[in-house]
Amino acid sequence: MLQYQPYLDQLANNTTESQALVNPHTKEEIARMPICKEEQMENAIKQADGAFETIKNMPAHERSDILNRASEILHDNKQMVAETIAQEAAKPIKYALSEVDRTVQTLKFSSIEARKLEGESIPMDAAPNGAGRDAYTLFEPIGVIGAITPFNFPLNLVVHKVGPAIASGNTVIVKPAEKTPLSAILLREALVQAGLPEDAYHVVPGEGKVLGDVLLKSDAVQKITFTGSPPVGREIKSNAGLKKVTLELGNNSALYVDKSMNDRLDDIVSKAVHGSYAYNGQVCISTQRIYVHEDIADTFTDQFIKGAEQLTFGDPLDEETDICNLIDKPSQQRLLEWIEDAKQQGAKVLTGGEAKDDGIAPTVLTNVPEGAKIMKEEAFGPVVIINRVASGDEALKAMNNSQYGLSAGLFSNDMKQAIDMAHGLEVGQVLVNDVPTLRFDHMPYGGRKQSGYGYEGVKYAIHEMVNRKMISLNYT
Ligand code: NAD
Repeated sequence: MLQYQPYLDQLANNTTESQALVNPHTKEEIARMPICKEEQMENAIKQADGAFETIKNMPAHERSDILNRASEILHDNKQMVAETIAQEAAKPIKYALSEVDRTVQTLKFSSIEARKLEGESIPMDAAPNGAGRDAYTLFEPIGVIGAITPFNFPLNLVVHKVGPAIASGNTVIVKPAEKTPLSAILLREALVQAGLPEDAYHVVPGEGKVLGDVLLKSDAVQKITFTGSPPVGREIKSNAGLKKVTLELGNNSALYVDKSMNDRLDDIVSKAVHGSYAYNGQVCISTQRIYVHEDIADTFTDQFIKGAEQLTFGDPLDEETDICNLIDKPSQQRLLEWIEDAKQQGAKVLTGGEAKDDGIAPTVLTNVPEGAKIMKEEAFGPVVIINRVASGDEALKAMNNSQYGLSAGLFSNDMKQAIDMAHGLEVGQVLVNDVPTLRFDHMPYGGRKQSGYGYEGVKYAIHEMVNRKMISLNYT
């Protein structure tokens, strides 16, 4: 049985401050959260640094077995872990359960990749004076990795850093989001029960700036891997010096629906409603801007509104709940202001557009000008724009008119159009005949423009957590 309380008690022995961790939907206290300060982070770094030699020298098959066992432990504790996510993140339980399933998979992928970290042989005689040598590359772990994570996938986005770090022989410190530290602790429990030495993975909860700065300043920390908002990502990169950095940031994902898909609209609308409102739109690749060909726009929009209005608002622990309160009140206020800003600029609210408890009723806007905040920025809430376009070319231009570039989707039966658009979209991933709100955990995953720097997806994250060493053997 996994538990977070013993680890919280351990943290509390070394901290003087604490605060209530509250379920954002019910406002009930879930746990008393110790707030770690600089000294606790420095200690965690020291311990993780001390454990590095052990993890580095642990055979790959042992690291792989630990990751695999942890995935089984998590699977066996699925309901309890999902309920923890549902409570700390106000995530409807059906999405929390699917997050645990994905995490089980991410650990399995990490276990597989731990056995497959292969270098290459270099044909030295390809260079005029290189003959008489054999050369090959090795991948070596780098040391302590500092992982800073967001609130919205408090388990799976943590494992996307911890799994690859352990798989490649590194140690890792997670600074979880202030509002959702418990899932990261449960993951640690699973890994420790699976045989990971305790000091190989620390969770240090507390304020982002305070603890982030300690990670950034420490010579022992070799890499910062961050998932979160673009402004914080930019600040981290500018303070990281020569440390390796990976940044997984925000997006305002766009979707195009072509008129050639007229006979599949039921299915597409249902996928789009899910992509737009799953977990209240608090997903980095949530479907936010939908461009629909004008010939099918009325039918698509009517069906989409029906889908949005059928969503059930309720307690995250209730299996029937589709949407609930947002993570906090400021998120609600910001979205209400952005909806008002769009209305001032001529947008029309087709449904929703108002507060519901501490959330927002599923909202559909249309006629939103390109300059409106809700169009340009990341909504990170249940607000969707449906604008009509006359062609795929017009959609492509509008979709690319964004400071972000993480994910885009398009539905089209016209193969040439689909391929042209896929090649023309300025994003890290294009999903043809899917919504942009789709990620499988072994895919390469990374953003362009303001959406990020570097890649995740287990194998790709590993390659950003190792040093390549070239060894040449001279026989002459
Ligand atoms: P956030 O940037 O507010 O916080 C993320 C983490 O950074 C938290 O742990 C926080 O404590 C820490 N932090 C805050 N200020 C810091 C500082 N100055 N220095 C170091 N660390 C600091 O993000 P959030 O609200 O938790 O998450 C939402 C954001 O995350 C959205 O923009 C979303 O798009 C993005 N996100 C991106 C991906 C992706 O894979 N690209 C996935 C999920 C979420």
